[in-house]
Amino acid sequence: MSGKDFNVAIIGGGLCGLAAAVPLFRAGIRVQVFENAPEFSEVGAGVGMGPNSVRALDSLGLLPAIVARSEQAGPKTRVFNFVSGYDRHEQVFDARRFLRDTRCPLLIHYQTTNPSNVGLGIYRQFNKRCTSITTSETGTHIVHFADRSTYEADLVIGADGIKSVTRDYVIGDKDFKPLKYTHTEAYRALVPHQDLVNAGVKTDLQTRPVCFVGLGGHLICFPIKDNSVINFVAFVSDHDTPWVPELTGPWVTPSSPEELKGFYKGFGPDVMTILDHMKEPSRWSVHAMDPPLQSFVRDKVVLVGDAAHPMLPHLGAGVGQGIEDVLVLTQLLTRPQTKKSNLSDVLAQYNKVRPPRANWVLNASTRAGEKYDAFHSTKNDTQTTAKLLDSIWEPVWNYDLKKDIEDSIHTLEEKGIFEK
Ligand SMILES: Cc1cc2nc3c(=O)[nH]c(=O)nc-3n(C[C@H](O)[C@H](O)[C@H](O)COP(=O)(O)OP(=O)(O)OC[C@H]3O[C@@H](n4cnc5c(N)ncnc54)[C@H](O)[C@@H]3O)c2cc1C
Repeated sequence: MSGKDFNVAIIGGGLCGLAAAVPLFRAGIRVQVFENAPEFSEVGAGVGMGPNSVRALDSLGLLPAIVARSEQAGPKTRVFNFVSGYDRHEQVFDARRFLRDTRCPLLIHYQTTNPSNVGLGIYRQFNKRCTSITTSETGTHIVHFADRSTYEADLVIGADGIKSVTRDYVIGDKDFKPLKYTHTEAYRALVPHQDLVNAGVKTDLQTRPVCFVGLGGHLICFPIKDNSVINFVAFVSDHDTPWVPELTGPWVTPSSPEELKGFYKGFGPDVMTILDHMKEPSRWSVHAMDPPLQSFVRDKVVLVGDAAHPMLPHLGAGVGQGIEDVLVLTQLLTRPQTKKSNLSDVLAQYNKVRPPRANWVLNASTRAGEKYDAFHSTKNDTQTTAKLLDSIWEPVWNYDLKKDIEDSIHTLEEKGIFEK
C-alpha cells in the first residue's frame, strides 16, 4: 500500500540512486530503480566520505547497513596527512585540525552496496538503460529504455552518474554540453604494503591516508584491506589550459610506471619507489562540469549526484554532495504534506538549496587541486601551502545541512504549500 499518491522512477542504481530509493521505499512510496548494469558489483576500492556525508548517511538511516558491509569493523576517523613530495617528505599540513567531532567516522571502504540489505530487493531492475525521457499529456513522465520498454512515473530522479541521460532532459538544449575534460589524469593502482616497506619506503602509509604534494602533481595513498594494501591515485594535471568538451574515446585506459614517472621527475625517494610499484596503473581521464548547472530540476525530473554536479575528486566530496542531495530531496518528498499536486513546488525548493551548495563544493574541488599541485613553486613553500590548505575543509565538512532542510520546510509552510 503506497503512502503517497505519486510514484517515482530512479534512473541509476549507484550510490546516490540506491541512497534515494531506500528512504522513499521505507516511507511507502512506490519506487522503482532502473540500472543499466546486469548486476550490482564492486567497481573500485572505495570512496572517502567527509563528516558532512557521514552525517547525511546517518540521517538517511543508511550508515549501519553500509558499515556492516564495509571491510573494516566500523567507520574510522582517517584524515589526510599532507607531506612534501620532495626530499625527506616532511609534513606540510594536517587536515585533522578541522574535525570538530573526533568521533565522526570519515573514510568508508565498502565492498558492494546491496539493496537486499535494506529490503529493496524486488524494486529494482537491471539491464535497463534509459535512453530518453518524454512527458505525457497528463504531465507524467515516460522513461524510455534501450530495450524499447517504457515506464511511466509522476517523478523521475536522475541518478545516472557522470554520463547522465536524465541531465539532457533537465538541460533541455542539445547544443549545451557542460561536461568537460579537465586535463586531469588519475593513475590508480593497488600495492601490497609489505612490498613498499621491503623497498625502503619510510613514509607511514598504514596509519592514515597521505597526500604527497608537489609541483604539477600530487599522489594520494590510503590503506585498505585491513591496511595490508595501499590504494594509490597519482594525479597529473594541467591547470592552465581551459577545459575542453568531453573526450570521445575511452576515459579509462592502461598505463605504465614509466609513463607516470615521467610526470613526477625530481620528486623524492618514497614517491619514486611507490610509482615503480604501481605496476599496471589504469589512467582515468577526469571530467567535470563547466559551467556548473544552475538548475537540477525540469518539470518533474530531478537530478542528484554526479548527474547534477560531476566534480574533480580533490576534496573527496563528489559522492558526499550526492548524499546531501538525496537527504534534502527525500526529506522533502517523504513529508506528510507532499503529494502529487504540490510536487513541483517541493522540487522548486530542492532546486533553491542544492545547486548553490553543490556547485560551491564543485568549484572548491577544482581550487583544491590547484593548491596541492602548487607546492614547491617559487611562491609556495611549506608555510604558504599549509596556509592555502588551511581554508579548504571547514566549509565542506562542517556545513549545516539540517538547517537547509528546516528552512525549506519553513518556506513551504510560509508559502501555504505545506499545512502547518
Ligand atoms: C579517481 C576518482 C576518485 C574519486 N574519489 C572520491 C572520493 O574519495 N570521495 C567521493 O565522495 N567521491 C569520489 N569520487 C567521485 C564519486 O565516485 C562519484 O561522485 C560518485 O560515484 C557518484 O555517485 P552517483 O550515484 O551519482 O553516480 P555513479 O556512482 O556513477 O552511479 C550511476 C549509476 O547509474 C547507472 N547508469 C548510468 N547511465 C545509465 C542509464 N542511461 N540508464 C540506467 N542506468 C544508468 C550506472 O551504471 C551506475 O550504476 C571519485 C571519482 C574519481 C573519478
